[in-house]
Amino acid sequence: MLTLLDELGLGEDFARLGAHHVQGASIPVAGGGEPVTVVDLSRLRVQHPYIAMAPQWDVLTLLAEAAAREPGFELRTNAEALGPVVEGGAVRGVRWRPVPPGSPAGTGDRPEPERELHATVTLVCDWRGSALRREAGMVPRSWPVPFDVWWVRVPGHSALSETLAPRGGRGLLYVLIPRGDYVQAGIIFPRGGGPGLLAGGIEALRRRFSEDLPELAAGLAGLAEEDLKFLRVELSRLRTWYRRGLICLGDAAHTMSPPPPPWAGWA
Ligand SMILES: Cc1cc2nc3c(=O)[nH]c(=O)nc-3n(C[C@H](O)[C@H](O)[C@H](O)COP(=O)(O)OP(=O)(O)OC[C@H]3O[C@@H](n4cnc5c(N)ncnc54)[C@H](O)[C@@H]3O)c2cc1C
Repeated sequence: MLTLLDELGLGEDFARLGAHHVQGASIPVAGGGEPVTVVDLSRLRVQHPYIAMAPQWDVLTLLAEAAAREPGFELRTNAEALGPVVEGGAVRGVRWRPVPPGSPAGTGDRPEPERELHATVTLVCDWRGSALRREAGMVPRSWPVPFDVWWVRVPGHSALSETLAPRGGRGLLYVLIPRGDYVQAGIIFPRGGGPGLLAGGIEALRRRFSEDLPELAAGLAGLAEEDLKFLRVELSRLRTWYRRGLICLGDAAHTMSPPPPPWAGWA
């Protein structure tokens, strides 16, 4: 993606977003020794040997502004895609309707009438629950996942190095992503276990996190239940990502892929 941005002449604009660079992954060792580096991206012979972490909305705004400079580009927001326009077995565009600003797609007492937008190629990128994909008759293959994640933004600089850091806890696994002035912490727990973990209240859970991750204890001090952003982890992908006139992209094509190998027991 970073090379692609360079090739599009957007590398400098992206650099101005101040993305945080993650250099690899390392695992801490007991007794406070040097963490063991398990992934070192700096050894890659590429222009950008790191993962750039930037807020998704900043990247989308950058792309929309760059696209707006192209002749013939038009961005229609507050528009709900309803399904493909199919002619002679090929997709020739999309059925859509305007939706009131701020309202989720598919709501409203008096929906606007449907309209059609014709196109040579229609890209489907309406998230993992893609309505367009469904309406196009494309069904992804899914694999069972035994865990879910709470994402938490933990403010403050930490003693973390600039690497992704997986950590074990008592019955929990943590992924810590340094983001400059905060840490993006993923708390991985067995599927369905959220209510049980919260049974003792948010304060008991905060204590547990702080004991498992002492270097984040100060940032976790004000943790409230609404700070836990639940992500249902899914693993799915389309076997064929296209049909005539239509290409699926992003989560609509694959959520957390590639799928695991058969030996992982998830086949
Ligand atoms: C809590 C959370 C944390 C994550 N953290 C990370 C991370 O740290 N790093 C990372 O790489 N990935 C992360 N991901 C995954 C990442 O967000 C997705 O892989 C990525 O956003 C997929 O992009 P997308 O364009 O396919 O779909 P989305 O980003 O989901 O965008 C789909 C868009 O389509 C719109 N839409 C939906 N239906 C319709 C319709 N019918 N008509 C019109 N518009 C529609 C939606 O409103 C949305 O704007 C995270 C995901 C979640 C939920």
